[in-house]
Amino acid sequence: MTKDERATILIVDDERANLNILADILKVKYKVILAKSGGQALARAIKQPPDLVLLDIIMPDMNGYQILYEIKNNELLKDIPVIFISALSNDEDEEKGLVLGAVDYISKPFSHSIVLARVNNHIKIVRQRKLIESIALLDCLTEIPNRRNYNKRITMEWNRAVREKTPISLLMLDIDFFKQFNDNYGHSKGDEALKLVATAICSTISRPADFAARIGGEEFAVLLPNTQADGAFKKAEIIRIAIEELGIVHQYSGVSSVMTVSIGGTSYCPDQVRGLQEFIDVADKMLYCAKNEGRNTVVGAKHVTC
Ligand code: GH3
Ligand code: MG
Ligand code: MG
Repeated sequence: MTKDERATILIVDDERANLNILADILKVKYKVILAKSGGQALARAIKQPPDLVLLDIIMPDMNGYQILYEIKNNELLKDIPVIFISALSNDEDEEKGLVLGAVDYISKPFSHSIVLARVNNHIKIVRQRKLIESIALLDCLTEIPNRRNYNKRITMEWNRAVREKTPISLLMLDIDFFKQFNDNYGHSKGDEALKLVATAICSTISRPADFAARIGGEEFAVLLPNTQADGAFKKAEIIRIAIEELGIVHQYSGVSSVMTVSIGGTSYCPDQVRGLQEFIDVADKMLYCAKNEGRNTVVGAKHVTC
């Protein structure tokens, strides 16, 4: 949900009339999804995770407390705020709902304007939380994903590749003689160069699953899920050339008159035996080889094709 996008509210109630009333209150400002049972609610939430759930408690198959339990124990759904909206109106019921993890509790019969006001307040908090999360995952200099983001992504993609038995490739990039660049042209010119390099790397990335991050001072990683060695190492060469072609003058480089990078690559068909750490270590080793082979070059290691 971006700042201008309408948030999505999932309303769960076994009474059609209640669903309609709540939908009428909320649809002016929000996208509304309706569910008449726990099973339907969970299936719809998984298919299209909403920004907020309004949840009835007394329902025939699963009750609201059970649905909340399922939401809180689902990796995809666990952070979605849930508001109970129920005819159970004594303190114990309200306390139980809040202790189980609901963010709010509205008793039926409800005031239309208070329901809308409470939903508005919680959606404001959702937007703030999402903004903070997205900032925490970006490198503040280059505005591309940072190391924390990369750690999350590589674990997720590795697990997916193991599950689906698909190839996965990783490129590690390191700018050549960057210390000399900084020492001679100054730190702010170094920062400018880092931004240009990040933009050049991202401009070479075409598939939605491909992922580039700044993982250290002058180090970048490019993760290429579902990509065999040949394709990955070709991509590495395209990135190397794109950075060379930026033409960032570097007369103190020991390898070229412009800024260059060395790239180490690896490509695996993952299994449980060869783990994620080995995958990363091999890419690092290949980067080290690229430095030893004279820099401004790509060295790749290919492991077992899928
Ligand atoms: P090599 O070719 O072996 O990679 O040598 P190098 O000089 O690039 O590598 P080294 O690791 O010795 O130096 C990296 C330099 O990167 C050190 C530091 O001055 C610079 N650096 C790290 N982070 C930043 C940053 O955020 N901004 C700027 N301007 N420079 C940075
Ligand atoms: Mg380095
Ligand atoms: Mg370097």
